[in-house]
Amino acid sequence: MQITKYKAVVINYVARDDNGEVIDSSDIDGPIRYIHGMEDLIPGLENALEGHTVGDKMQVYVAKEDAYGDRDESLVDEVPLENFPGIDQIEPGMNFQTEMEDGSPFIVTVTQVTDTHVTVDGNHPFAGKNLNFDLEIIEVRDASSEEIEHGHVHSDDDHHHIH
Ligand code: ZN
Repeated sequence: MQITKYKAVVINYVARDDNGEVIDSSDIDGPIRYIHGMEDLIPGLENALEGHTVGDKMQVYVAKEDAYGDRDESLVDEVPLENFPGIDQIEPGMNFQTEMEDGSPFIVTVTQVTDTHVTVDGNHPFAGKNLNFDLEIIEVRDASSEEIEHGHVHSDDDHHHIH
């Protein structure tokens, strides 16, 4: 079965930056599961996967423009430490969910902590990076109507998600 619109696709992957350093992989985060043609995946990967089938292995270079774009320094913010009540220790690398002005959830990463302030970065961790993927397609099937309605893949062990 070929990858076309509304196929549910599962992929093992390794992502490297331009220095060849592994920045993410299915060994760390589990495979990518997405529905093709619904902007559920970065465009550079979707375009490369179109028409491929289970068992295909491929190397794909995705320029930052087709991945997570450039960094936006306006998404970096210094927040007073007292805005994090009830948290014993705040360390770089921790993630917090906050809200955009329209109320939609937004994940920030702590990048620096001083005695008084926490610097948080709302950029995607891969913003500003070109990505070099090794991909292996491990499943292609028709997405269910419910999956298409939700815009993401459901699996037996993963029915918990925010809509
Ligand atoms: Zn769902």
